[in-house]
Amino acid sequence: MSDLTSTNITIFISFSLYLFICMQPQYTAIMTFVLIALMGLVLGSFSHTLAYRLAHAIPLFSRRSHCDDCDLPVGMIALIPVIGYLLLRGQSACCQKPIDKIYPITELASSCVFIAIAWHNPSWGTMLLLMVWWLGLLVMGLTDYWTLQLHDAIMYPWLVVSALICLLHGEWLFAILGALVLVAFVFGLSRFLETILKKPTMGEGDFYILFGLFLALRSASTLGVILIGSIIGILFGVVLKKKELPFVSLLALGSGILFLFRV
Ligand SMILES: [Zn+2]
Repeated sequence: MSDLTSTNITIFISFSLYLFICMQPQYTAIMTFVLIALMGLVLGSFSHTLAYRLAHAIPLFSRRSHCDDCDLPVGMIALIPVIGYLLLRGQSACCQKPIDKIYPITELASSCVFIAIAWHNPSWGTMLLLMVWWLGLLVMGLTDYWTLQLHDAIMYPWLVVSALICLLHGEWLFAILGALVLVAFVFGLSRFLETILKKPTMGEGDFYILFGLFLALRSASTLGVILIGSIIGILFGVVLKKKELPFVSLLALGSGILFLFRV
């Protein structure tokens, strides 16, 4: 329920608010976090739209957002992240069909992850790169969930951002070697499982994502993300018997949770 117009309007309002508050120094820290939370909502909404259009082969800048059910253009209220969903009581204004909960969940999750990243990363460079990095992973997690596809237009720039985070952290040679070892290990494991299960377990794109994940997060956090992702996967597929979540969706969820609870 978002489009580029709403994104631009909200960014403009947020920055105006920020500039106003910056004139009163005692509120700067609080307002910086408010701005980051707003940016998380808006960019989370934008990422959802981007993923939806990529997954459904809709040109990115062709038109404003339309209702998923009746295809009429949605009103301005529906374009406001989270609040639009609440004001409409979870139903589209045009045809009163339930709006997919994944809209507000994506927006809220992005906002929370942004605040967590800002909280743990005092350096602006690392903080902004990690935010872009997580949004990229979110977009790929969503397209993987809807269509089991990753798009090069997102994956390659995301790998570049992973490499930049790696450079900022230092010890990049160690990180590259570690990433290669991990990819080689998981590749061997997936081929072994494929011969036993007689069905494909992982796609080529999954290995690129694993490589980028290790570059950006390093060993301990990567293992944490894989562990959290595996638990969510088992919970969804085995315990709740819901639609099985693909690998990159699990990594996006896992890294989001890791950012939230990192101490
Ligand atoms: Zn409708």
